[in-house]
Amino acid sequence: MTLGGAMWLLWCAGAGAALGSFAACAAWRIPRGVGLCGRSRCPACGAPIPWHRNVPVLSWLLLRGRAACCGARLSARYVALEAAFAAAGLAAGLLLAPPG
Ligand SMILES: [Zn+2]
Repeated sequence: MTLGGAMWLLWCAGAGAALGSFAACAAWRIPRGVGLCGRSRCPACGAPIPWHRNVPVLSWLLLRGRAACCGARLSARYVALEAAFAAAGLAAGLLLAPPG
């Protein structure tokens, strides 16, 4: 595989994960009547989440499923959704432009 091909697949997986992150966020916010705009907040204590703690899948793994602010357990459902979207993005990338 070329470097360009690897970068492309990485981008597709990342875009998928970002989409999954948004879907998970929407799935949490809409039933609670919270608007989709505005920064991410901790579902447990409401503390704003800085961008480097809000990387789909990766942050959850690094923090072992706990919130950095208050240590509350974060549902694996959201990270599973992000991972599923990342896999779908990867699959789409492979279909659209199979690496050499
Ligand atoms: Zn918190």
